[in-house]
Amino acid sequence: MAVESALNEQAGVDCLTDGYLKANFADSDVEECGYCKEERPVVALDELGAELEGHSGFIYLC
Ligand SMILES: [Zn+2]
Repeated sequence: MAVESALNEQAGVDCLTDGYLKANFADSDVEECGYCKEERPVVALDELGAELEGHSGFIYLC
């Protein structure tokens, strides 16, 4: 729980290595990526989790 709150809650679409997810969230709003601090289209990590429930794979970041 403490660990989770310390993590950034959104990741840049460009920082995802999963092509399926990149394509899926390519039109997201541009905000600061929680990982590389660049302004990019971002996706909330809980949204990613929900998306992955229907897609076998892992989330890889920068
Ligand atoms: Zn990033």
